[in-house]
Amino acid sequence: SAKNEGRNTFRFFSNDMNLASIERMNIENGLRLALKRNEFRLHYQPQYSIHNNTVIGAEALLRWQPENSPMIPPAKFIPIAEDNGLIVSIGDWVLREACRQNKVWHDAGLKLLVTVNISALQFKRGNLLESVQAALNDSGLEPRYLELELTESVLMFDTNAVINTIAQLRALGVSFAIDDFGTGYSSLSYLKRFAVNKLKIDQSFIRDLTSGKAEDTAIVKAILQLGDTLGLLTLAEGVETKEQAEQLSLLGCRKAQGFYWNQPLPADEFARLFTPDSPKPVV
Ligand code: C2E
Ligand code: MG
Ligand code: MG
Ligand code: MG
Repeated sequence: SAKNEGRNTFRFFSNDMNLASIERMNIENGLRLALKRNEFRLHYQPQYSIHNNTVIGAEALLRWQPENSPMIPPAKFIPIAEDNGLIVSIGDWVLREACRQNKVWHDAGLKLLVTVNISALQFKRGNLLESVQAALNDSGLEPRYLELELTESVLMFDTNAVINTIAQLRALGVSFAIDDFGTGYSSLSYLKRFAVNKLKIDQSFIRDLTSGKAEDTAIVKAILQLGDTLGLLTLAEGVETKEQAEQLSLLGCRKAQGFYWNQPLPADEFARLFTPDSPKPVV
């Protein structure tokens, strides 16, 4: 009967509107207001030159702290912002903020590379060239101190537009890294098509580096060799232990980041640790 159908429909609906989709809706609504409400922050994870243990760069990682609610990790909100297009304006903010902050550090004597994660939609929908130029011009940061991290989702579009945008930004002095390298569907073909500077070895290969599994050592070795042969820099992501750092060093890897050295840090903590003239934290 109609009455039963109604009940069934309602049941179906209430089952379907499970916690996950309600959460998603809340995130989506919150994201629309987050920029205006100034709820985003960037944290910075130090990148090291392994052999002399000096900091050479900082990866900017987006943090969202909505008012009166717990911090929401990027893995949760970035895919949603990519689906609804908000990542374009959020990404613009990230670029501006990372350049502004890095210029402040440069003026304080801390000359680092800042690396910024870029979503595919920023290439497709946004005007990435103009966004980056605006962030550089308004901050006064020299382009060679900005690096853009691209994942497979960007490089999968084998469009001339992406290739051209990369070339134009390279001409300005901006550099490019392939993020999570080795996990993609056809990582090797990217190297031929896209003029990047650096490969970031995915953390999944670093994790088992010292567990005695020969495969991961072989893969890391191969990526390092590939980088050498093609004239690309390499950096290991997700280094968590001294053993991993030592093993990487033995394999000839020169750059790395990971919890072994530091978690991603708020800008003020980062500055306290690394700015030459500022007082060191009391431990
Ligand atoms: P990613 O770019 O590959 O960044 C590395 C992630 O690994 C970060 O997670 C970082 O906190 C984490 N990590 C660093 N060292 C270690 C370690 O030693 N062990 C482990 N287990 N993890 C480590 P986070 O900050 O949660 O970011 C996750 C992903 O979200 C990023 O992966 C990136 O794809 C995306 N993301 C973050 N910020 C932005 C942004 O501003 N724009 C875009 N489009 N994506 C972003
Ligand atoms: Mg990254
Ligand atoms: Mg990565
Ligand atoms: Mg990643």
